[in-house]
Amino acid sequence: MVVLGIESTAHTASVGIVDENAEVLGLASDMYRPSTGGIHPREAANHHVDVFPGLVEHALAAAHVSPREIEAVAFAQGPGLGPCLRTGATVARTLSLLWRRPLVPVNHCVAHIEIARVLSGLDDPVLLYASGGNTQVMAYGSGRYRVLGETLDVGIGNFLDKLWISLGGQFPGGPAIEKAALEGVELLPLPYSVHGMDVAFSGMLTASQVLHAHGASRENLAYSVEVTAYSMLTEITERALAHRQKESVVLGGGVACNERLRTMVRSMAESRAKTSYAPAKSLCVDNGAMIAWTGLLAFHAGVTVPVAESIVQPRQRTDLVAAPWRTG
Ligand code: AMP
Ligand code: MG
Repeated sequence: MVVLGIESTAHTASVGIVDENAEVLGLASDMYRPSTGGIHPREAANHHVDVFPGLVEHALAAAHVSPREIEAVAFAQGPGLGPCLRTGATVARTLSLLWRRPLVPVNHCVAHIEIARVLSGLDDPVLLYASGGNTQVMAYGSGRYRVLGETLDVGIGNFLDKLWISLGGQFPGGPAIEKAALEGVELLPLPYSVHGMDVAFSGMLTASQVLHAHGASRENLAYSVEVTAYSMLTEITERALAHRQKESVVLGGGVACNERLRTMVRSMAESRAKTSYAPAKSLCVDNGAMIAWTGLLAFHAGVTVPVAESIVQPRQRTDLVAAPWRTG
């Protein structure tokens, strides 16, 4: 079976095509980059409108498949920015009607875990999902993925972006902070905010800005923010592993591209004799292939949606969506 997946929850418009073996036959993505400030949802959606036709063509060409060979069209139904989600859903509905193929709704967070699961071969991992808008620790239990812990305020990536822009930098902040952190030499005291398996970042944002106003360098701030924030994420992941008695952890989301975070999670897992896995960066960030793959799993489990009912769900919670392919 070959499935085409549409991703458009935030700044990335992406089309992926996968087969039954989770082979990524074609993947074409284009990221909206605001010239100043953060993401404006409507402008991001306008960007997606412009690029989607070309992305569909590119993905089909890269996969060497014709539309006739696509057996289902999957799309990210939520969570995400309403205007962006609607654009992707409109593309998916159009292709579904045009090609007379079933439409399969996919939860974006579940897609991050499913692509990591199949690529790693790890059957039942904990997922640390660290992206722009989302920061969650998830694991499977009784028919669905459960959110064990999450951010109580902003997502880790949004925090990094906001911080970097307020220090005079540009979006996206995460990769720039990673680079600047390599030049940092002093660990500055920042609020370490872990509440059980939840985390919060807004105190660290304010404290960093105050330190900067008092002369702290961007390099030392970047280093200190990385060490503090990624320690918090590693701690809640460790707690989830221990409480749920899982044997492995997988990473997902744009912030999971970060080498320091990958290394910290790996060494935590190794110290507990657990396994950790981080997908290649192209499949860690938002991408259509993970939507296509999760769509394929869902389709096999009987999940489809009529076009007339395929409404997007900007606030769709991971734990409100069944994962019937896991129940067997
Ligand atoms: P996503 O929402 O999953 O598409 O991820 C986007 C977020 O990932 C943005 O907030 C970026 O700043 C962040 N990001 C991307 N690469 C890195 C990196 N190497 N280190 C930290 N954050 C990153
Ligand atoms: Mg994501």
